[in-house]
Amino acid sequence: MVHRKYEPTIKRAGELGVGVVAMCPVAGGMLATESSMLKDSLGVDLPTSQMALRFVLSNPDVSSVCSGMSTMEMLEENIETVKNFNPDKDANFEEMSEGLHLMESALGDKFCTWCSYCMPCPEKIMIPDLMYLYTSWQAFGLEEGVRNAMAVFPEKENLRNCTECRKCEQACPNQISICDKMKKMTEMLN
Ligand code: SF4
Ligand code: SF4
Repeated sequence: MVHRKYEPTIKRAGELGVGVVAMCPVAGGMLATESSMLKDSLGVDLPTSQMALRFVLSNPDVSSVCSGMSTMEMLEENIETVKNFNPDKDANFEEMSEGLHLMESALGDKFCTWCSYCMPCPEKIMIPDLMYLYTSWQAFGLEEGVRNAMAVFPEKENLRNCTECRKCEQACPNQISICDKMKKMTEMLN
């Protein structure tokens, strides 16, 4: 739901009749946190994790979904979501896609497409991962999810090591003001 780079590939697989198993539907736990922005924009009053499973399963070119679960409670919740869900009736993939697209568009036409042209950073900052988290926070209102992700992010301290050399910004085809966004993230985490 928040990382849709592979949608064209999934669509092509569908055209070729190739089955697709989607992994990480809750984005490594990011979508296990709540966002009133997502509820309002998509008009779906469900916990975010259920919304995310429904979104992936309503894609007509996705055959199944593989969600990481570490507790019995998560397993039971996922079974309940899928058991009571009819992808043809209970969700509209096109409408949800449009809602997500509008949320991303609110960031303007300059948002990260995860191309990695900005890498490597001399300070070993994982810029694409951080820009993905920034989008999740700003476009989808997943502040708690971003905080949780940053808490276990191996290079989280490197974020503060940015020297503002702007090599990354010169290489970015989307002219993203990477330094400004990293400063905002550092402030949010403090
Ligand atoms: S501006 Fe910061 S993030 Fe970008 S390349 Fe330089 S040190 Fe790395
Ligand atoms: S070059 Fe720009 S668009 Fe590509 S991953 Fe880096 S920040 Fe994102």
